[in-house]
Amino acid sequence: MTYSNRRQKAVNLLSHLELDVLVLCQHENIRYLSGFSGSAGVLLVTPDQLVFLTDSRYTTQANEEVTADCVIEYKVQADGVTEQLLSLGVTRIGFESDLAFGIVNGFQKKGDASWTWLHLKDELNPLRLHKSAHEISLMASAADLNVAGLAEIEEMIRPGVRENDIALALEFALRKLGAEEKAFDIIVASGLRGALPHGIASDKLLVEGELVTIDFGCRLSGYHSDETVTLALGEVNTELRTIFDTVLEAHDRALAAVAPGIALIELDRIARDHIKASGYGDYFGHGLGHGVGLDVHEAPTLSPRSKAIAEEGMVFTIEPGVYVPGVGGVRIEDMVLVTADSHQTLTKIPKRFRNILLN
Ligand code: ZN
Ligand code: ZN
Repeated sequence: MTYSNRRQKAVNLLSHLELDVLVLCQHENIRYLSGFSGSAGVLLVTPDQLVFLTDSRYTTQANEEVTADCVIEYKVQADGVTEQLLSLGVTRIGFESDLAFGIVNGFQKKGDASWTWLHLKDELNPLRLHKSAHEISLMASAADLNVAGLAEIEEMIRPGVRENDIALALEFALRKLGAEEKAFDIIVASGLRGALPHGIASDKLLVEGELVTIDFGCRLSGYHSDETVTLALGEVNTELRTIFDTVLEAHDRALAAVAPGIALIELDRIARDHIKASGYGDYFGHGLGHGVGLDVHEAPTLSPRSKAIAEEGMVFTIEPGVYVPGVGGVRIEDMVLVTADSHQTLTKIPKRFRNILLN
């Protein structure tokens, strides 16, 4: 049932884009449409055929996992794909534009000269934009693992401990609790390093009076969780406290506004305006958030350039941050689901982590 619904979405997209076939290589899209969890393969989607191609390393796995009309093994990818495109009798071909140039070139060189190739990027976003109940429950479970994982290492978050050791312990806890994998390299950025929005954990030791930002998540059956907490190690100075309060308020205001029908640019603006009004406008350099799903960063994007409107079933992050060089930084991130009339926060880190002054 699931795969037939998804397949229908892809077929609708084909007709909307006036294409004969989609050539998909990005593994998240392949997994979404066929269930294949391996890393090498090509999925061809036509209005009435779903053809999965892979090499001999993955044939057994594909035969077990894949929901498609047929699974074909190739020796040379470009040859295998071209042969299928010829037998499907297609002429207008859409392919993912983040495909390596060499692969596309191989398809094009071996294919029929009359074929039209269309680069697709954002055009494919509608495919995975609205999450099903099953996808939502997997992400909610991945977010629950975050709660349990953080609780397990909470005691470690104290002065004298290395950022790297916290990251490692958190990753270990998440895996032990049942996560398939961490969602990305865990960020633990303390003190002045907190001003690096994506500073991964280092050998720096945590120090009393600092803030520490922990951005982490995990993967469960392909689906991700992503969240950030910023904690204080004892008493912090007035400026850090002001930054923390500013970011928390920006986060809470944007989160409260999430509902179907609101423009994503407006959510970004709500958080940004508050940060600007507090005097930190120059220090919030990234967008407010991003979609989460089979990929940890996917559509939609929440930024001053967003065009999309919040719709039921979208899952995205709200993650304002302020990063002041030479002072420190704060980011607070939650994952939120747009529901029929409002929203539901999927990440559920207890409130005590929101309160500054951990010990
Ligand atoms: Zn994020
Ligand atoms: Zn994050």
